[in-house]
Amino acid sequence: MNVSTSNLLPEVAEFLSRGDLPSFVGGKDFPAASGKVVATLDPGSGEHLANIHDLDAAEIDRAVEIAGEAFPAWSALSHDDRSAILLRLADAVEEHKPIIAQIEALDAGKIEAQAQGDVQNFVDTLRYFVKLAGQVETRTKLDVEGYDAWTYKQPWGACAFIFPWNFPFLLIGWGISPALAAGNTVIIKPAEDTSMSALYLAQLAKKAGVPDGVINVVTGRGATAGAALTANPKIKRMSFTGSPEVGQLVGETCGRNLVPVKLELGGKGAAVVFDDVDVAETAAKLVGAITFHSGQVCCDATRWLVHRNIYDEFAERCVELMKNVRVGHPLDPSSEMGPVVNPKQRERVLGYLEKGQAQGAKCLCGGGEASVDGYAGNYIEPALLAGSMDNVAAREEIFGPVAYLGVFENEEEAIALVNDTQYGLANSVWTNDKERAARVAESMVAGNSWINAHNVFAQGVPYGGVNKSGLGGGVLSAETLMDYYRSTSVVRPL
Ligand code: NAD
Repeated sequence: MNVSTSNLLPEVAEFLSRGDLPSFVGGKDFPAASGKVVATLDPGSGEHLANIHDLDAAEIDRAVEIAGEAFPAWSALSHDDRSAILLRLADAVEEHKPIIAQIEALDAGKIEAQAQGDVQNFVDTLRYFVKLAGQVETRTKLDVEGYDAWTYKQPWGACAFIFPWNFPFLLIGWGISPALAAGNTVIIKPAEDTSMSALYLAQLAKKAGVPDGVINVVTGRGATAGAALTANPKIKRMSFTGSPEVGQLVGETCGRNLVPVKLELGGKGAAVVFDDVDVAETAAKLVGAITFHSGQVCCDATRWLVHRNIYDEFAERCVELMKNVRVGHPLDPSSEMGPVVNPKQRERVLGYLEKGQAQGAKCLCGGGEASVDGYAGNYIEPALLAGSMDNVAAREEIFGPVAYLGVFENEEEAIALVNDTQYGLANSVWTNDKERAARVAESMVAGNSWINAHNVFAQGVPYGGVNKSGLGGGVLSAETLMDYYRSTSVVRPL
């Protein structure tokens, strides 16, 4: 018996024992009439976990209709009544945290303890937006001479969400919480590799008393199910999180239908390390970040720009740390880093390592498949490349446990290197000089800059990219809550 089966919670074993997981729409199973399915595998072992249903365009359209039909009653609830239901859902998710986390660990290849953090983040985000929505003034008096005037805010209707595979459950929380709290209904399309936690959520929402049709999960392939959801003119808003390539397609389609769209896309974040830092501590934090979820984190620091004075010591320390990362199955409590999501992603990462070296980068450590006893999963050794920043591996998003080391001489050069990218999601600066830290943080062109930290999120701090990293931003904050209200101005001449 391997770890993945010996550690399973009975509830997870029961969930998986169905083998066949239809979509969940209007408060019930919503199977694909065609019988078409997509197999979902454990990235840590390659074992088959279950099949999800591959919905066609007509079925997606029906799901949108059902979400639209549930909207009038849901939006007509008082804030207190709607909050009570959503807080019950938050409690139910928290209570089921170990189960959801284990489903996520198996389906997405996420270290179990990290998956528990993702589930808690969902709960905290939902509670945050429920509270925030209670503070929104839906009627605002306008001070205009000669008129009695005000604006009135109300929810839009059925809102669509398309999610990627790297943070399947957490991102659902970031996406749907403001929409639901404002009184919208939602249609969630998870990635085909990682739909299980969304399906579990939909069932849990029903048990927690969320009215049928308010939270719907449609599954299937992106090019069919995802494209049909995007093209449906009855969705009132679209929120897409995923690759820039697909984001552009989604943006074009929504633009044609004049459906407001929010895009959260890829990144190639930088970390600028000045020579006044504690080298060991900074190296440990950056290696921790790039190996967290095998580097499949859109806002990761993947370009490490290090001041010449500490470059050699920093590189040496990182190599030592990377070589010691324990790669293993996500359900094995001793594992520090799991697999990447699927064989295609593994090939992509290995391909970039090859292309990077072909263009002259030096591989300081890692760079191959990692072997994990007893498991035929998609494991990769954490890798550190070094060289010119004008290298394909330093410029394109790899989305794996690979960092690229570069050198700089002064602050100006560092900022220029950071901003020499088509992306603009998140960067960090590492220095003990507070003024320099703030100056550099504000000069890096991106939605987020961190100081002496990377990947720090708090409800209330807007998150989101610019340039090729996204459109719309403001995630996790009041800004995004306001996206989920439409506004009507009312004017009466006195
Ligand atoms: P992807 O773009 O391939 O897929 C994302 C989702 O889009 C999936 O649900 C997929 O089924 C769907 N999809 C695919 N083709 C579609 C189409 N033609 N029409 C509509 N939907 C379609 O991305 P991925 O590989 O799942 O995720 C990795 C990418 O996501 C990386 O670029 C990463 O940086 C990005 N990401 C960004 C953020 C952020 O907050 N900015 C967060 C997580 C991931």
